[in-house]
This record gives sequence, C-alpha cells and structure tokens, in this order.
Amino acid sequence: MPIIVCRLKSLPLATFAAAAARSLAINPANADHRRRVARTPAGQRGGTPRIAVVVGRRWPTTGVRLTVSFLDNAPRDLRARILRHMNAWGASANVVFRETRGMGQVRIARLDEPEDMAGYWSYVGTEILDVPDDKPTLNLEGFTMRTSDAEFRRVVRHEAGHTLGFDHEHMRRDMVQRIDRAKAFAYFDRTEGWTRHEIEEQVLTPLDDAAIMGTTESDPLSIMCYQLPGSIMKDRKPIKGGADINPKDHAFAAGLYPPRTRR
Ligand SMILES: [Zn+2]
Repeated sequence: MPIIVCRLKSLPLATFAAAAARSLAINPANADHRRRVARTPAGQRGGTPRIAVVVGRRWPTTGVRLTVSFLDNAPRDLRARILRHMNAWGASANVVFRETRGMGQVRIARLDEPEDMAGYWSYVGTEILDVPDDKPTLNLEGFTMRTSDAEFRRVVRHEAGHTLGFDHEHMRRDMVQRIDRAKAFAYFDRTEGWTRHEIEEQVLTPLDDAAIMGTTESDPLSIMCYQLPGSIMKDRKPIKGGADINPKDHAFAAGLYPPRTRR
C-alpha cells in the first residue's frame, strides 16, 4: 500500500478576508507573517488567478485550548489515543486538546472519499474556525486501533501541528531535485488549485534559495517537514517527513505558546 502523505488544506478564496480579520483579532502578531499569494480556484486550470493576502494563523501566545469532536463513530479507545498524540505538543508548549461530545473546534473525520477530502490533512491554525460546522477540520483516513504507534506519531502529531498554526518546513535541495516537475505542476494544480508560480514557490524552491528570500532556518527532520507523494517523485519514493516531534519542534512550539512558569 502506498504511503499517504499530508496534503495542504486551505479555505476557499471567498473566505480569505474574513479568516484573515479573525486571525489578526486572535493574535495581532499574525500580521508579521503577511504574504501575498496568487491562487487559481481549484479545478479551474488555466483560469485567472486571484491575488489574496494571507496572514499568519497562529493562536494567542497565552496558550491554546481547543475542543475536539469526532464526525464518525470512532470508538472510545481510538478517540483517546488520537487525543493523546495530539497532546504530545503539550509536553513543551501551553497546548491542550480536550474531547467534547458536542461540536468541537477541531472536528476529526476518517474519510477516504471524495478524493479532495481523503487522505491526511488539517486546516492551519485559526482557519479551523472558518470551516463550516458540519465539515471536518482534520482528516485521518483509515486510522483505527490497528494502526501502528509510529503512524500515530508521524501523522497525528503532524496534523495537530497544522491545527496549532504550523506550516510545512521548506525542503532541502536534494529532496527538490528528486521531484518530477511536470508531475508536480499537474498534481498541485489538481489538488490545491495552485498556479505554476505558486508551485515553484511552495514546493520547487529548495531551502538555500528560500533562505535567501528571507525565510527563517528550516529543519528537514522536523515533524512539519514537507511531505510529498511518490507519484510526483522521479524515483517514485514518497518524502515521508519527520517521524516525531523533535527537540527543535518542541522548542519552536514552546516559543510560540510558552508554558506557564511555576511560582
Ligand atoms: Zn502537512
């Protein structure tokens, strides 16, 4: 069975402005992460791209408290296991995910269809608040109690990282060189509705060049490392990303959401 990697998930263009206003209200420092993106609506290959301003989507520095609900009949032990792995971020940062039987702010599904909802993905940070109430904010296709602990660490912690407002880390040059450019253009046009320019910027620009453009230092072993499917790689081997939250990830999370100091 092929390894499933994370797909980025972002809100429809029409909701960008409202989502940006909300994220600035939640954490004004999100303004410092402002950037312009040109985005073609998904499925409209060759259509006119629209320019949108994207700001950071981080939660308040005072800490993150989010309720979690499940949109399917996940058994109690599975729900507890997923929560436990999401809360692994709480070892370093002021982060608590708590299950609710009502409607959670984080809504977890395990969809394997339709294609654009299948796989592993999460909306990023405060964007989850702009997802319609009856729709998931995080998907864990096919996760059961039979899934290995290694997969829980690799996938659930990565997706929880997106929910905490973390983007993908940029890639090293040797990884980028393994990508089949033509297949990458087709893949991200289909799955994300990105233009060629965006795909160049998001996926095909290796770490060195990205650093020159002002992006901060990245960690290729981060749990938030870019993940790519084997189908767009010249050698057909997927990039799986980091295997677990590593010390740099923990330090990063603790910097954004510092733990309360004991008195
Ligand atoms: Zn991801």
